[in-house]
Amino acid sequence: MDSLFDAEGGAENRGERLAELSRQVAVCTKCDLSLNRTNTVFGTGDPSSPLMLIGEGPGENEDASGLPFVGRAGKLLDDILAAVDLDRDMVYITNVVKCRAANREGGRMKNRPPTAAEANACDPYLQGQLEAIKPEIILCLGGPASKSIINKNFRITKDRGEWHEVYGAKTMATFHPAYVLRQHGEDLQKTKRLVWRDIQEVYKEYQKAMEKRN
Ligand code: SF4
Repeated sequence: MDSLFDAEGGAENRGERLAELSRQVAVCTKCDLSLNRTNTVFGTGDPSSPLMLIGEGPGENEDASGLPFVGRAGKLLDDILAAVDLDRDMVYITNVVKCRAANREGGRMKNRPPTAAEANACDPYLQGQLEAIKPEIILCLGGPASKSIINKNFRITKDRGEWHEVYGAKTMATFHPAYVLRQHGEDLQKTKRLVWRDIQEVYKEYQKAMEKRN
Protein backbone atom coordinates (compact mmCIF):
# COMPACT_ATOMS: atom_id res chain seq x y z
CA MET A 1 0.00 0.00 0.00
CA ASP A 2 1.19 3.53 -0.66
CA SER A 3 2.14 5.56 2.35
CA LEU A 4 1.89 9.32 2.51
CA PHE A 5 4.19 9.48 5.49
CA ASP A 6 7.57 8.31 6.55
CA ALA A 7 7.54 5.59 9.17
CA GLU A 8 8.99 8.12 11.63
CA GLY A 9 6.80 10.23 13.88
CA GLY A 10 5.01 9.73 17.17
CA ALA A 11 1.77 10.78 18.74
CA GLU A 12 2.91 14.39 18.97
CA ASN A 13 2.89 14.61 15.18
CA ARG A 14 -0.52 13.02 14.80
CA GLY A 15 -2.43 16.27 14.48
CA GLU A 16 0.04 17.68 11.95
CA ARG A 17 -0.04 14.50 9.89
CA LEU A 18 -3.82 14.47 9.80
CA ALA A 19 -4.00 18.18 9.00
CA GLU A 20 -1.59 17.70 6.10
CA LEU A 21 -3.58 14.72 4.81
CA SER A 22 -6.80 16.69 5.13
CA ARG A 23 -5.29 19.51 3.06
CA GLN A 24 -4.29 17.01 0.37
CA VAL A 25 -7.77 15.46 0.34
CA ALA A 26 -9.43 18.89 0.04
CA VAL A 27 -7.78 19.48 -3.36
CA CYS A 28 -7.54 15.86 -4.52
CA THR A 29 -8.56 15.03 -8.09
CA LYS A 30 -7.21 11.48 -8.19
CA CYS A 31 -10.58 10.03 -9.16
CA ASP A 32 -13.78 11.23 -10.81
CA LEU A 33 -15.58 11.54 -7.48
CA SER A 34 -13.91 14.94 -7.29
CA LEU A 35 -16.05 16.17 -10.21
CA ASN A 36 -19.40 16.35 -8.41
CA ARG A 37 -18.42 16.85 -4.79
CA THR A 38 -19.45 19.85 -2.75
CA ASN A 39 -17.05 19.07 0.11
CA THR A 40 -14.53 16.38 0.84
CA VAL A 41 -15.21 14.49 4.07
CA PHE A 42 -11.96 13.66 5.79
CA GLY A 43 -12.84 12.52 9.30
CA THR A 44 -13.70 13.79 12.75
CA GLY A 45 -13.32 12.92 16.39
CA ASP A 46 -10.44 12.18 18.70
CA PRO A 47 -7.32 11.05 16.81
CA SER A 48 -5.93 9.76 20.12
CA SER A 49 -8.89 7.42 20.64
CA PRO A 50 -8.15 3.69 20.55
CA LEU A 51 -11.32 3.22 18.48
CA MET A 52 -11.71 4.13 14.80
CA LEU A 53 -15.01 3.77 12.93
CA ILE A 54 -14.79 3.41 9.15
CA GLY A 55 -17.79 3.72 6.85
CA GLU A 56 -18.11 3.47 3.10
CA GLY A 57 -18.20 7.10 1.99
CA PRO A 58 -20.07 10.38 2.26
CA GLY A 59 -23.73 10.63 1.25
CA GLU A 60 -25.73 13.72 0.36
CA ASN A 61 -25.78 15.24 3.85
CA GLU A 62 -22.11 14.52 4.44
CA ASP A 63 -21.18 16.01 1.06
CA ALA A 64 -23.14 19.15 1.96
CA SER A 65 -21.63 19.49 5.43
CA GLY A 66 -18.13 18.08 5.01
CA LEU A 67 -18.70 15.89 8.08
CA PRO A 68 -19.07 12.10 8.28
CA PHE A 69 -22.32 10.48 9.41
CA VAL A 70 -24.77 13.34 9.60
CA GLY A 71 -28.52 13.16 8.93
CA ARG A 72 -30.66 10.22 10.05
CA ALA A 73 -27.90 7.63 9.76
CA GLY A 74 -25.63 9.90 11.78
CA LYS A 75 -28.27 10.30 14.48
CA LEU A 76 -28.61 6.53 14.68
CA LEU A 77 -24.83 6.21 14.93
CA ASP A 78 -24.95 8.66 17.85
CA ASP A 79 -27.59 6.46 19.50
CA ILE A 80 -25.51 3.32 18.92
CA LEU A 81 -22.47 4.99 20.51
CA ALA A 82 -24.57 6.39 23.37
CA ALA A 83 -25.82 2.88 24.15
CA VAL A 84 -22.34 2.17 25.48
CA ASP A 85 -21.62 5.65 26.90
CA LEU A 86 -19.51 6.69 23.92
CA ASP A 87 -19.89 9.79 21.82
CA ARG A 88 -18.28 11.15 18.68
CA ASP A 89 -15.64 13.05 20.61
CA MET A 90 -14.39 9.77 22.12
CA VAL A 91 -13.79 7.96 18.81
CA TYR A 92 -12.40 8.81 15.38
CA ILE A 93 -14.79 8.50 12.43
CA THR A 94 -13.88 8.35 8.76
CA ASN A 95 -14.76 6.60 5.50
CA VAL A 96 -13.06 4.50 2.84
CA VAL A 97 -13.56 7.26 0.25
CA LYS A 98 -13.55 10.93 1.06
CA CYS A 99 -15.89 12.16 -1.71
CA ARG A 100 -19.51 11.28 -2.39
CA ALA A 101 -20.16 8.55 -4.94
CA ALA A 102 -23.41 9.29 -6.76
CA ASN A 103 -25.00 9.05 -10.20
CA ARG A 104 -27.47 11.46 -11.74
CA GLU A 105 -30.87 9.77 -11.97
CA GLY A 106 -34.04 11.62 -12.95
CA GLY A 107 -32.46 15.02 -12.34
CA ARG A 108 -31.17 14.07 -8.88
CA MET A 109 -27.88 12.73 -7.63
CA LYS A 110 -28.43 9.26 -6.17
CA ASN A 111 -25.86 7.67 -3.87
CA ARG A 112 -24.07 4.57 -5.12
CA PRO A 113 -21.27 2.44 -3.69
CA PRO A 114 -17.79 3.65 -4.68
CA THR A 115 -16.11 1.45 -7.31
CA ALA A 116 -13.03 -0.60 -6.47
CA ALA A 117 -10.95 1.84 -8.56
CA GLU A 118 -12.28 4.81 -6.56
CA ALA A 119 -11.62 3.05 -3.27
CA ASN A 120 -8.09 2.20 -4.42
CA ALA A 121 -7.43 5.77 -5.50
CA CYS A 122 -8.48 7.00 -2.06
CA ASP A 123 -6.77 4.25 -0.09
CA PRO A 124 -3.49 6.13 0.57
CA TYR A 125 -5.47 8.72 2.57
CA LEU A 126 -7.07 6.03 4.71
CA GLN A 127 -3.68 4.38 5.11
CA GLY A 128 -2.28 7.72 6.19
CA GLN A 129 -5.03 8.11 8.78
CA LEU A 130 -4.38 4.59 10.06
CA GLU A 131 -0.63 5.24 10.29
CA ALA A 132 -1.17 8.51 12.12
CA ILE A 133 -3.87 7.32 14.51
CA LYS A 134 -2.75 3.72 15.00
CA PRO A 135 -6.14 2.58 16.30
CA GLU A 136 -6.24 -0.42 18.63
CA ILE A 137 -9.80 -1.23 17.60
CA ILE A 138 -11.52 -0.71 14.25
CA LEU A 139 -15.26 -0.97 13.68
CA CYS A 140 -16.22 -1.20 10.01
CA LEU A 141 -19.70 0.07 9.27
CA GLY A 142 -21.37 -1.86 6.48
CA GLY A 143 -20.40 -4.40 3.86
CA PRO A 144 -18.40 -2.21 1.44
CA ALA A 145 -16.14 -0.85 4.20
CA SER A 146 -15.70 -4.38 5.56
CA LYS A 147 -14.71 -5.69 2.13
CA SER A 148 -12.16 -2.87 1.78
CA ILE A 149 -10.72 -3.19 5.27
CA ILE A 150 -11.09 -6.82 6.32
CA ASN A 151 -11.47 -9.09 3.32
CA LYS A 152 -12.83 -8.64 -0.20
CA ASN A 153 -15.00 -11.72 0.29
CA PHE A 154 -16.49 -10.41 3.55
CA ARG A 155 -20.25 -10.97 3.85
CA ILE A 156 -21.75 -8.56 6.34
CA THR A 157 -24.84 -10.65 7.14
CA LYS A 158 -22.73 -13.73 7.89
CA ASP A 159 -19.39 -12.37 9.09
CA ARG A 160 -20.34 -9.32 11.19
CA GLY A 161 -19.71 -9.46 14.91
CA GLU A 162 -16.50 -11.49 14.60
CA TRP A 163 -13.05 -10.20 15.48
CA HIS A 164 -10.27 -9.97 12.89
CA GLU A 165 -6.72 -8.67 13.13
CA VAL A 166 -6.21 -5.86 10.60
CA TYR A 167 -3.49 -3.18 10.58
CA GLY A 168 -2.51 -4.42 14.04
CA ALA A 169 -5.98 -3.57 15.35
CA LYS A 170 -8.80 -5.75 16.65
CA THR A 171 -11.33 -5.26 13.88
CA MET A 172 -15.02 -6.01 13.72
CA ALA A 173 -17.78 -5.14 11.28
CA THR A 174 -21.39 -4.34 11.95
CA PHE A 175 -24.28 -3.10 9.84
CA HIS A 176 -24.17 0.44 8.49
CA PRO A 177 -26.70 2.70 10.26
CA ALA A 178 -28.27 3.57 6.87
CA TYR A 179 -28.87 -0.16 6.30
CA VAL A 180 -30.48 -0.44 9.72
CA LEU A 181 -32.80 2.44 8.83
CA ARG A 182 -33.91 0.65 5.66
CA GLN A 183 -35.23 -2.32 7.67
CA HIS A 184 -38.83 -2.64 8.83
CA GLY A 185 -40.81 -4.53 11.46
CA GLU A 186 -39.17 -7.69 12.76
CA ASP A 187 -36.13 -7.20 10.52
CA LEU A 188 -35.53 -3.76 12.01
CA GLN A 189 -35.68 -5.11 15.58
CA LYS A 190 -33.41 -8.03 14.74
CA THR A 191 -30.86 -5.84 12.94
CA LYS A 192 -30.81 -3.34 15.79
CA ARG A 193 -30.27 -6.12 18.34
CA LEU A 194 -27.26 -7.38 16.37
CA VAL A 195 -25.74 -3.91 16.07
CA TRP A 196 -26.25 -3.28 19.77
CA ARG A 197 -24.59 -6.60 20.56
CA ASP A 198 -21.64 -5.71 18.32
CA ILE A 199 -21.11 -2.27 19.85
CA GLN A 200 -21.10 -3.82 23.31
CA GLU A 201 -18.29 -6.18 22.27
CA VAL A 202 -16.41 -3.24 20.77
CA TYR A 203 -16.90 -1.23 23.96
CA LYS A 204 -15.39 -4.02 26.05
CA GLU A 205 -12.22 -3.74 23.97
CA TYR A 206 -12.36 0.06 24.19
CA GLN A 207 -12.54 -0.15 27.97
CA LYS A 208 -9.59 -2.56 28.07
CA ALA A 209 -7.56 -0.21 25.86
CA MET A 210 -8.40 2.77 28.07
CA GLU A 211 -7.55 0.84 31.25
CA LYS A 212 -4.12 0.01 29.80
CA ARG A 213 -3.49 3.71 29.22
CA ASN A 214 -4.33 4.69 32.81
S1 SF4 B 1 -12.56 10.01 -3.44
FE1 SF4 B 1 -10.48 10.15 -2.62
S2 SF4 B 1 -9.14 9.77 -4.38
FE2 SF4 B 1 -11.17 10.31 -5.21
S3 SF4 B 1 -11.06 12.54 -5.53
FE3 SF4 B 1 -11.95 12.19 -3.47
S4 SF4 B 1 -10.19 12.32 -2.08
FE4 SF4 B 1 -9.37 12.01 -4.15
